[in-house]
Formats: sequence, structure tokens, C-alpha cells
Amino acid sequence: MLKWLKGVISESSERKLAKVQPLVNEINALEDGVAPLSDAELRARTDQFRQRLADGETLDDILPDAFAVVREIAKRRLGERHFDAQLLGGIVLHQGKSAEMKTGEGKTLVATLPLYLNGLEGKSAHLVTVNDYLAKRDTTWMGPIYHNLGLSVACLQHDAAYVYDPGFNTDNPSLRHLRPVPRREAYLTDITYGTNNEFGFDYLRDNMVVDLSQVVQRPEHPHHYAIVDEVDNILIDEARTPLIISGPAEETEEVYRMFARLVPRLQPEVDYTIDHKTRSVSLSEEGVAKLEKWLNIKNIYDAQNYRLTRFLEAALKAHALYQRDHHYVVKDGEVVIVDEFTGRLMFGRRWSDGLHQAVEAKEGVRVQRESVTYATITLQNYFRLYEKLAGMTGTAYTEREEFHTIYGLDVIPIPTHRPMIRRDNSDFIYRTPEAKFRAVVSEIEEMHAIGRPVLVGTVSIEISEHLADLLKRRSKCRNPECGQYHPVCPLKEPQVLNAKHHEREAQIIAQAGRFGTVTIATNMAGRGVDINLGGNPGRLAEELYRKKDIDPDTAPPEELERIRREARQIWQVAHDKVVEAGGLHIVGTERHEARRIDNQLRGRSGRQGDPGSSRFFVSFGDDVMRRFAPEWVGGMMGRLGMDEDMPLESGMASKAIESAQTKVEGHNYDIRKHVVEYDDVMNTQRDLIYTERNKILEGTDLKANIQEMIAEEINDLVGTYVGDQREEERDLKGLLNEMKAIMPLPPHFTQAHFAGLPLEDVVEEFLTHAQKEYEAKEQKVGAENMRTLERLVMLGTIDRLWVGHLTALDEMRQGIGLAGYGGQDPLVAFKREAHDMWDQLMEHIQRNITHRIYHVTLSPQATPAPRRPAAVAARAGGRRGPNAGQPEGGPPAAPRKVGRNDPCPCGSGLKYKKCCGRAA
Ligand code: ADP
Ligand code: MG
Repeated sequence: MLKWLKGVISESSERKLAKVQPLVNEINALEDGVAPLSDAELRARTDQFRQRLADGETLDDILPDAFAVVREIAKRRLGERHFDAQLLGGIVLHQGKSAEMKTGEGKTLVATLPLYLNGLEGKSAHLVTVNDYLAKRDTTWMGPIYHNLGLSVACLQHDAAYVYDPGFNTDNPSLRHLRPVPRREAYLTDITYGTNNEFGFDYLRDNMVVDLSQVVQRPEHPHHYAIVDEVDNILIDEARTPLIISGPAEETEEVYRMFARLVPRLQPEVDYTIDHKTRSVSLSEEGVAKLEKWLNIKNIYDAQNYRLTRFLEAALKAHALYQRDHHYVVKDGEVVIVDEFTGRLMFGRRWSDGLHQAVEAKEGVRVQRESVTYATITLQNYFRLYEKLAGMTGTAYTEREEFHTIYGLDVIPIPTHRPMIRRDNSDFIYRTPEAKFRAVVSEIEEMHAIGRPVLVGTVSIEISEHLADLLKRRSKCRNPECGQYHPVCPLKEPQVLNAKHHEREAQIIAQAGRFGTVTIATNMAGRGVDINLGGNPGRLAEELYRKKDIDPDTAPPEELERIRREARQIWQVAHDKVVEAGGLHIVGTERHEARRIDNQLRGRSGRQGDPGSSRFFVSFGDDVMRRFAPEWVGGMMGRLGMDEDMPLESGMASKAIESAQTKVEGHNYDIRKHVVEYDDVMNTQRDLIYTERNKILEGTDLKANIQEMIAEEINDLVGTYVGDQREEERDLKGLLNEMKAIMPLPPHFTQAHFAGLPLEDVVEEFLTHAQKEYEAKEQKVGAENMRTLERLVMLGTIDRLWVGHLTALDEMRQGIGLAGYGGQDPLVAFKREAHDMWDQLMEHIQRNITHRIYHVTLSPQATPAPRRPAAVAARAGGRRGPNAGQPEGGPPAAPRKVGRNDPCPCGSGLKYKKCCGRAA
């Protein structure tokens, strides 16, 4: 049954491939036609293709011609002609699928086909790599193909961006032909290489800008087509943690304390009014005036004092609305929320938007540092933004279900260009880790003795180092030729790689196939770099250029060709020797959680038909075994009574391990699905906010929009205060106070004036006045300035409240498992709460904008020079997880720091250090 099913599955992907085969034949048939063309004629083809597209042909129509042209130019420029298998892969990628192509099959070259084709549309095609080094390497490596066909190509780095330009030279060999450009320009090229983090964080940062000029991704079709290299790593391993731009809100403790001292000096009912119905507090003009005096500022609503209002609001609420032992308790120096319905203490939960800190300041306990989430997205949802997505890797098939359900990506295994002849030996299983490592050391020793290079995979840096240490102490070199190849025996000086210095490690791993070499590497180390038996011929050629003092940029092609041939000859000798010895041997020191990762390690050997072998060494002390292997496996060993150093090599045990791995894979898939399910809730909200922001940035007229909000707010307020009540229950005083907080009122707007008026008339009067007041303000500041103010207020408010909302959502997501929602499905509870919070967010936005728009003024500093949020933090934001650094210029920063000897901003007349600064 199972066998039959398997047959069906592989047949269907074979069938899919069979459908593509005629295209490959077609491309091959075109070869003779393009071969005689000059470079310029090939280049001219690009324009013809563009014309054909403009005339209504599709990419599929021109695919055979385009692929034939790319292959021809690759032949000329790189000396590599795409194999048929590579054409197959290229077609699969173009179709928006995942091509499973083994390591060393030449996926870098494969990608040039669909990238060129899709790049012709002028909407940019992205190639996503696992690290910056590979983005750079592949841009310069493949650059000549695109360049000679007239397409521009760029690469993103963590802190820079470059366009490939063969005319550009620098002294830095690793930046050869890479001309630095503004990031935005890198996105405007036809093809852009970069890591998932750079693409993802650029997207998030683009949605935090305050001016469109700061956006770096394309304004139109920013996510047109992407090929993700090592797609399993990026879309599966990395996808467990979302991209987050967050940071500690800095130096806020003093500010909270300062406001906690100021606010009690305000007089209730005079300086502020409390609305218990909406649980909000509004400052009156008097209150504002007092605060401005104490803080020594002109206008608290001014854009430059933006940030202060947040603290103020929080402090007012904490003071006036939140009572100890009712809303919260203070326990062991912490403020703990009391659930209003059940009275339960909600340990660990925190109010958002600074309220919790304000209450802490009010209670004089330690104010906990805020961590603010500015923006977040899962990789899953980032990559779903693309109109067309494709992927390539050596190992995707085991995870094909996930690729399909989450990303809609079919996995199509592409047959290898030459038959694979690597021997994968069955596992050796030991009772203890010590015995296992003894065996590993002697295996390496044996391989080295016959000159075979060995690549040892480990699951952690510690184990790499431990093993290197063991090897140095315990091994003995028994290879008579070792000295001819290595100044120091590799057993005594193994190469240890830990995926930290990608560029340097790439150089090392590229040589890991040389005679008798020993390399110990963690899983990701050197990924994407080819291990060529006998060393890397390209590097050899470069060495020769250097030795002969030849500049590859200027030397005549024939000379270059001669040297390449010479290098190839030298390499061939070295290569043959290693092949004769048996090729690269892979040693796994532990089974990984996922079979895919083990296959990835094995796949480093046996590239393009090379000989090679692999073996995994496992012990019952290993993590995966301890957690998941069934008991009987351990018992079996005991019963057999083997001595510690005798491995068990049993098919049954190996199967047991594999089934343990399958279990873990399933478990991890569930975790990732979970992450996406939660992010999906945020995704809808994020889309809405980002679209809204964009409209604002694009200069949509906001006046009507804001006036609508004002009208709505007026309606709401009148409804709340005078609503359906009978005359004597109307709270006209409350209403007037509220309205006064929004805008100046004319003297005749008194309680007496409104007494007895029908509801509609009350609304009408306020509406008319609001309108008049608005026009008056516009008259005063000028229409153009008014538009700027509208934009600033709207953007500032949305950003501030959205960030608060996001932080709260994030906190809720983390806490919801613990909270115990009465046995409810936490996801359902999350969705419901997220929905309620969204409604509240909308209300808050309206309320805030209404309250701010009449007060705000435009002082010269109020429009800060547009700065990209976080050119720096963005870099810091490039790191995953919390505390990735705080964007500057985006969300407002903490207010300027008060010097210890400055007069205290609270207006007490004392020095700051003797007053509010004392606690700090
Ligand atoms: P992958 O990404 O699939 O592991 P790479 O793109 O790193 O493989 O390529 C592996 C090696 O194969 C490189 O050294 C490359 O130059 C070589 N190669 C790829 N395609 C061809 C080809 N068509 N002809 C000759 N060599 C090729
Ligand atoms: Mg690769």
C-alpha cells in the first residue's frame, strides 16, 4: 500500500516534469541559432523580448528564446553551459514552484534563467539568500550574465547596497565591481539579491516612514517575484521566529516619575474632567496651561512635544481612574492587575500604552522598562506578499506538505545532472556519548589515513569545539603523504566553522574537498558554498592571476582562458587523487531533529556524480534520542550486552530514530502553524493600517476624513451626555467640558444656552461651530500648512496608537497560553480580544485626532527633516527577536534628557536632581 502510494507521488511529479521536457527540447533546438550571434546581437534580444511583452506576448511565450539567450551568454561569460537538468529547474522556478535540486547541482546558475525572464517585465525580481555573503557572492558571480544582456542587478547588505558594475573598481577584493548605491536604487534594478531579513525588515521599515521619500522598496509592485534559495532553511527553519522591530523605550522611568508627581497637583473638575463611562480623562484649558507652565513649554500639543502627551495621558489615567486594591494590587514591589470580573490576580500581565508604568510610578515601585513593538511580521506572511514565489534547495521533499499548505508551493524534485553514487551507510549507535565520540575520532583518523577529506557535522558550536579538542589530543596521523599537502596535519589543526563569519568560512569550506582535509562545522556553516573535490578551480585561477600579476578585468580573454585552463589542469590532478581515495566522507555526530537537516549534511558529498559516503554516529545520550526514541531501543542494547565501544548497527533502530524524527518534525510544524495563525490575525489589521498610512503619505486629502471623525466624535459625545436622558438627567456641564477640551468654544455656549434644546439641535450647533472653528484655523495657518498639520496629526496618532496596540497584541499573544481563558481555545480567545482591541484602537484614533487637531501648531522644528526610521536601528532591527533596537525618527523618542543641575521641569524651582530627578 505504502509503496504504491509512493509510486503515485513520485509519478505525479515525474509527470509534471515530463510536461516540461518539450520546453527543454525547444530551448536546446534554439542553441544553434544563438551561437553565431555577437554579444551585441544577444544584448539586442533583450529589447526584442521587451517589445514582444509590450505587444501582448506572455513570459511563457518568450521563455524558450529567453532561456536560450541566457544559456549562450553564460557559456561565453562564465564558461558554464546550463545542463538540461538546470533548464528544467529554471522552468519550475519560473512557474512559481519549489525545485528540489541537490547540493552542487548549480542552483545559482539555474536562477539566472527565471530571474532574467521575469526581470524583463521591469518590476524587479528578488533572489533571497541565507546570508549577506551569498547575496554579494551571487551578484558578482552571476552579474556578468545580466549585465551583458542589459539588465541591472543589485545586492542588499545589512548596512549597504550595491549595484553590479564591471566598470567600477575598489581596493577591496570582496567588493569587486560593486558600486555603492542608496538602498532605494538597489530596489529599482531589474534583479535584486538579498537576505530574507533585509527584504523583510525593509518592508517593515517602509511602513514606518513619515515621508514617502524614505521608502526604499518599489512604490509599485514591490513584491513581484521572488526565488528563495535554500528555501527550506528560510521558509521553515527561520520561519519559527517572526521579524520584529522592537526596542526598549529608553530613559522613561524619570519621565513617568515626573508626571506622577505633577498630576496630583492638578485640580479635578477644574484642570481635568473624568469620564467614567468611557474611562478617559480630558484636560481642560486651565489644566493645559498649568502643565505648560510647570514643564516650561509653549504648547503641549505641539508636534515636538508629542511624546509627552503619552506620559501625561497615562499618568492622568493612573491617578484619576485606577485605584489600588480595586483595579490592581501592589505585591512584592510589583503592580498586579486585578481582573475586573473575577477578582483574580493577573500575574505577569501588563497594561499597555504606558499605563502600567504610570501606575508603578504613582505607587513608587520600580518602573519596569518598556519594550515596544514597532512592527512585526512573520516570514510566512512576508513571503505571501509576493505575486509569484519560487524556491530551490537540496532538501524540501520531506516538508512538501508545509510548503504546499502555507506557501502554496509545490515541490518538484529535479533529477541530478549525473547519477548520484554517494554511499549512505546506516547509523552506528552507541550507548554513551563518550563512546560515540571515541568512534568518531577513529573514523576521522581512518579516513585521513587514506587521504579522504572529511566533513563532520555537529549540532552546536560547543560540540564542534569539544570534538576538535578530542581530535587534537587523541588522534595520530597515519598518512604518509600528509606533509606534502599540509604544513600541519589537519588532525592536529582541523578547521572549525560555526556560521558566524560567512565570508571567511566560505573560503574555508570551498577548500574542504582537498586531500586529507578535516573540517568540523555546525549545520549552517558554509551553507551555499560548493565543496569541490581537490579544491576550488576558480580560486586556483585567481591565485594564478595574482602570481602572474594579471588583472582579470583588463587582460585579453585569450590570456584569461589560458590561465583558467592551466588552473584546471592543476586542479584535475588534485581532483583525481581525491576521487581515487573515495571522495568526501561525511560524519554526522548526532541525528538532528529534522531528517531534512541530516540530508542537507549528507548532500555536501557526492555532488555532480562525485564519489563519496556518509555515516551518522548516534548515542542514547543525544537529545533527539532521549526525547523521542522508544524505550525498547535502549533496552535492546542492554540485552545484547555489548561492550560500550561496539556499535549497534540495526535497521530496526535506525527506523526507530527516523520515526522519532518524523514526530519532532510534526511537532515543529505545529509550532510554526501556530505562529502563522496568530500572525494572520494581526495581518488583517496590519494591512489596514499600512494601507491607511500609505494613503496619508501619498498625500490623500485628509480634511474630509478628519472632519468626519470630528463629526462622529461630537455625535458620540452628545449622545453620551445628553442622549435619551430626560432634561434633568442631561449632563450639560460634562458635555461642555468635553467639548472645550476639543476646541475653543464661543462665550454664549453655556449650559443655559443648550438647556431644553432638542438633541439634533445640540449636535447641529456643535457641528456648525466645529466647522467654523476649523475654517478659522485654516485661515490662520494657511491652507497648505493645515494640510501638513492634518498629515502630521493623523500619522503621528495612528503610529503611536498602532505601536501601543501592536505591543499589547504581542504581549497578549505571549501571555495568552498562561492566562487560562476558562478552558477556551487560546487562539479563539486571542482572535476575540484582538478584535475588541481593534475597535478600541479605532475609537482612540478618532478621539485623539479630534482632540489634537484644533490645538496643534506648526513650529519650525515641528516638521523634522525626514529621516528614514532607523537607518541605524534598522540595522539593529536586522537582528531577530525582542530588543532589536529602537528606530529613530520613526516613533517618537523619549523627551530630551534633563540635566541633573537644570531647573526641574515640574516648575518647583528646585534643581532637577533635588526634585523629580531624585528618584532616578
Ligand atoms: P548549488 O547551489 O546547487 O549547491 P552552486 O550553484 O553552488 O550549487 O554550484 C556548484 C558548482 O557547480 C559551482 O562551482 C558551479 O560553478 C558549478 N556549475 C554549476 N552549473 C554548471 C554548469 N552548467 N557547468 C559547469 N559547472 C557548473
Ligand atoms: Mg546554492
